Amino acid sequence: MLVDPWSSTTIENYEHVFKKFGLKRFPKKFCKELKHYLFERGIVVAHRDFDKIMHRIKSKKEFINMTGIASSGMLHFGHKVDIDLFKFFKSKKARNYFAVCDIDAYVSRPDSVVGSLEKAKEFALENIKDLLALGLDEQDVYVQSNKETRYYEFAFELSKKITRSTFEAIYGHIDLGKISANLLQYADILHPQLPEFEGKMPSITGIGLEQDPHARATRDIAARLPYNLEMPSFIYFRHQSGLLEGTKMSASKKETAIFLSEKPETAKRKILNAFTGGRATANEQRKKGGKPEMCKVFEFLLFHYPDTKKIDKIFKDCKSGKWLCGECKNFLIEFVQDFLEEHNARRSRFEKTAKRIMGY
Ligand code: SF4
Repeated sequence: MLVDPWSSTTIENYEHVFKKFGLKRFPKKFCKELKHYLFERGIVVAHRDFDKIMHRIKSKKEFINMTGIASSGMLHFGHKVDIDLFKFFKSKKARNYFAVCDIDAYVSRPDSVVGSLEKAKEFALENIKDLLALGLDEQDVYVQSNKETRYYEFAFELSKKITRSTFEAIYGHIDLGKISANLLQYADILHPQLPEFEGKMPSITGIGLEQDPHARATRDIAARLPYNLEMPSFIYFRHQSGLLEGTKMSASKKETAIFLSEKPETAKRKILNAFTGGRATANEQRKKGGKPEMCKVFEFLLFHYPDTKKIDKIFKDCKSGKWLCGECKNFLIEFVQDFLEEHNARRSRFEKTAKRIMGY
């Protein structure tokens, strides 16, 4: 199988995957029109049916903005891209649905990662505080374990529309926990279009490329349901890699990630230890220039630093040898530490609201 939503392998050959599954490269024209750095910097790489959403944005009409995260650990900067995209669409007259997937996290992850539903709920509470601190409102967020009855009814209803062989063909394996998690994920994406929620309306969900099997299955099921639903649209973004060489940013490997609730001092240590594209000595770097394309410090800035002009300048000055790794790391440390101080102060104010969302 080329794309496994539970695997941690990076997809090297994007074009091959696009072709095989009928994804479209995200058009440059849209990137310019949307005016957001995640589009301008090639972080959003592909789409399915985004034209419909673009049309809604241009004509200032409503659309459903839906995404989610599995509460299988604390949120880190790798998750922030998904949240930033959600916030971007929220600013465009969207009807917002951010799912915090605690049931999914427990049933689809090994016990070593999420040992109980209670643990998944503890993570969910912490994740919700991050979401609210990042600017989402209480009404934008729901947790799977505290959702309306209609949502669960719908998830069970969906089970009649996918067979064992289809599941096996799409995912390559059968696992009861993952099947249950999938039914909830399909329900997360499609339920906003039920008459009890928004009714038929185009919807957009941002996902990583490796999540495409879920997108295809959701669209396949949407076509078989006895409801009049708009086919859901998807955009596909690249994942930020880990801070160390050859790693994924992962909550289970703490040195690869900076958590949104991280202490500024530990964030500093992790950035100082990050893999760079620098040369062996400062002199050599001044002569030959660095390699920002392979640098984790640069990648971090590319994914999160909002000023594109500054990013361009860092890229050029690194290549020419004018800007060295020490000053570059200090620049990132200052940016991340300022963010964390502000974020942590904000998240501590949302305990009550987060509990209310959890139904406590
Ligand atoms: Fe990376 Fe910055 Fe060093 Fe260039 S100067 S290699 S971008 S850390």
